[in-house]
Amino acid sequence: MIVDSQKAESFFRMLSESKKTVIAGHFNPDGDCIGCLTGMRSWIESSFPGSVESVSMIVPSIFPDYLHFLPGADDVLVFPKDRSRSKTLIAEADTIICMDFNNLARTEDMAGLLSGSNAVKILVDHHPSPEAFPDLTISETEVSSASELAWWLVSEVSSRHGLSVPFDTKTSFYTGMMTDTNNFCNSVFPSTFLMASQIAEAGVDRDKIQMEIMNSFSQQRMRLMGEMLLNRMRMFNDLKAATMVLDASTKERFDYRDGDSEGFVNLPLKIKEVEISALFTQGDGFIKVSLRSKGAVSVNRLCRSYFNGGGHERAAGGRLYMPIEQVEEYFGKCLREFLQKEGNGAV
Ligand code: 5GP
Ligand code: MN
Repeated sequence: MIVDSQKAESFFRMLSESKKTVIAGHFNPDGDCIGCLTGMRSWIESSFPGSVESVSMIVPSIFPDYLHFLPGADDVLVFPKDRSRSKTLIAEADTIICMDFNNLARTEDMAGLLSGSNAVKILVDHHPSPEAFPDLTISETEVSSASELAWWLVSEVSSRHGLSVPFDTKTSFYTGMMTDTNNFCNSVFPSTFLMASQIAEAGVDRDKIQMEIMNSFSQQRMRLMGEMLLNRMRMFNDLKAATMVLDASTKERFDYRDGDSEGFVNLPLKIKEVEISALFTQGDGFIKVSLRSKGAVSVNRLCRSYFNGGGHERAAGGRLYMPIEQVEEYFGKCLREFLQKEGNGAV
């Protein structure tokens, strides 16, 4: 059993006593994050119809257009755009569920409000080393995604209490799992296939989800991918690494939209010799760092040590504050030092 039955029972009790629930996601929300929020909301609404007054979903920054097909995604509040409404909802909430992040700092400007709230606080997450949540921490790293963990959680609670899991919840959690595994490529556990099988049996339209996520590129996004591979990929052969830098002028040239570079960081790993891939994206006030590993190197530790971030062993991210022109050199220097310290034989 993936979710401890006592924790599942506590989760049920907390939700059954909650009138106003807020579900919070992380900065730069991805498919797993939005899938968690929309899936959990539809499950709560269908499971506690007599007691629920509101279930709100709030994220600290905008999310990509291709996730708007998810049922209920249009109701997700984006904190900087819906600040006063979000503040009221957080202040009035009696339960807050944090999903797909392990540390309140990942909610940026929302962190102070969330930590200051007197609501019951629940964490549902799959990242290593989670911050302790006072009321209930449901954290497992041996699952593909927070959406998969949420699936096992609501399945357990629903079967114990004779509830049914709504179709929309299945669609959302399936999408979250599918995006976080990069379409069943990474972090897939036997339980992940079991989840997929159960959801497929329920008749969720996997072809449509596949189409919305994998085959909905804009022309510009496709051409940007070509540009990054042809002209922006630099090899660090001695380190078995590759980098790509997406600067502001390239973003402008290709009419960059949020989410357009999603998945690019995985591409260099297709090269046999490349074990670590890094994508640096110039943003407002900082450079967004994305790292992936297909070998023994922990990009979680690499990000914690040098890139102001963290994540999973094979997928992590962070931020840099330096001129974009210096990023490649900084990466090479840091990785070399890291590999020498860790002594993992990649150099
Ligand atoms: P991505 O490269 O897809 O943006 O992020 C991959 C993973 O790295 C995410 O699932 C998340 O766990 C982690 N991550 C990304 N950005 C940050 C960050 O700024 N701080 C921390 N702590 N983790 C991050
Ligand atoms: Mn995730």
